[in-house]
Amino acid sequence: MPIDTASRIAHRVRELPPSPIRHFFGLVESMPDAISLSIGEPDFVTPWCARETGIFALEKGHTHYTHNLGIIELRREISQYLARRFGVEYNPENEIMVTVGVSEGLDLAMRTLLNDGERVVFPQPSYVAYPATITMAGGVAVPMPTQEADAFQLTAEQLDAAVLSSGARVTLLGYPNNPTGAILPRERLDALAAVAARHDLLVVSDEIYLELTYGREPISFAALPGMRDRTLLLSGFSKAFAMTGWRLGYVAGPAEIIAAMNKIHAYTAMCAPRLAQEAAVEALRNGQDEVDRMREEYDQRRRVVISRLRSMGLPCFEPEGAFYAFPSIAHTGLSSVEFAERLLMQERVAVVPGSGFGECGEGYLRCCYATAMPLIEEAMTRMQRFLNTL
Ligand code: PLP
Repeated sequence: MPIDTASRIAHRVRELPPSPIRHFFGLVESMPDAISLSIGEPDFVTPWCARETGIFALEKGHTHYTHNLGIIELRREISQYLARRFGVEYNPENEIMVTVGVSEGLDLAMRTLLNDGERVVFPQPSYVAYPATITMAGGVAVPMPTQEADAFQLTAEQLDAAVLSSGARVTLLGYPNNPTGAILPRERLDALAAVAARHDLLVVSDEIYLELTYGREPISFAALPGMRDRTLLLSGFSKAFAMTGWRLGYVAGPAEIIAAMNKIHAYTAMCAPRLAQEAAVEALRNGQDEVDRMREEYDQRRRVVISRLRSMGLPCFEPEGAFYAFPSIAHTGLSSVEFAERLLMQERVAVVPGSGFGECGEGYLRCCYATAMPLIEEAMTRMQRFLNTL
């Protein structure tokens, strides 16, 4: 009798929904004439200084494992970068670990912090991996729906109420936000910090898009008064440094939690890729100008996308971070999945239905503008044409 492989897959995994972004990405790949505003990935290649260092590292035969926490040169550079850019101080010896992207950092954080059935409150719409990593760690994901009327910012009242009703001891914040592009301004951050202190919360702060903040000073949650010791700061090189394929991120936080996360990391990933670590040292030493240049370019695209979406009659909240626009399509009467599928079939433009980011994302689309300006212009023209047919 052949083995019934489906029945061998753990319930937890069987019940896990596949990522909605990948679904659309797959459809787009089968359509060579489609323009993709779907995947959240810079169209830029990694700054040359980092690529060159990666090549040299390979030439020198640096092909071995590293320290589990990552090479000390990189941890030192990360420590200096966080101090220089965001004013937060971490000891590179024991308060920083290098991970396989923020993806691994998230997974390690949840597995380290959660006991079975423990709740984690997080704002939605949210990055698709948040509920998945919480569930996979045995926790219970408790979304806090944010509203366009609040600029998709989590309010202190919401956090307070969610913590009281769920009993959560951990909150997972993702600002600047994927998929809305929302940021948290100083007053909001301070109010949330006060709630975190009052309820003794551990804050996991995914700051992968913090460098991509437009027209405001970026603020790390860990930099707020009293928050450093109750925050796990997750960040990485994928977005700001255009290094998605190198698979490199880091976690900065209290030494005891880093050591606990490192226990899992040592058994599962061992270390982050060595060549990527060496390239990242160079990216931090000499890549900031490139980061600034890419941010400037995203900002121009952001303005074009927002103005084109609004002029075709789609109300669009003004994103101040990341590289996503989140227009409302509620007035068309189509669900976000119907809209995205029909747009793709009719006009060959791929966007992601807002419902993929949680229930409160219904009625919206995520349009990633990390794509070259001419393609953005063409995608907007096609979208306008599609709207005219409704
Ligand atoms: N966090 C957010 C909010 C993201 O949007 C992404 C990628 O899209 C990640 C984390 C994962 O990034 P990494 O490539 O560092 O694993």
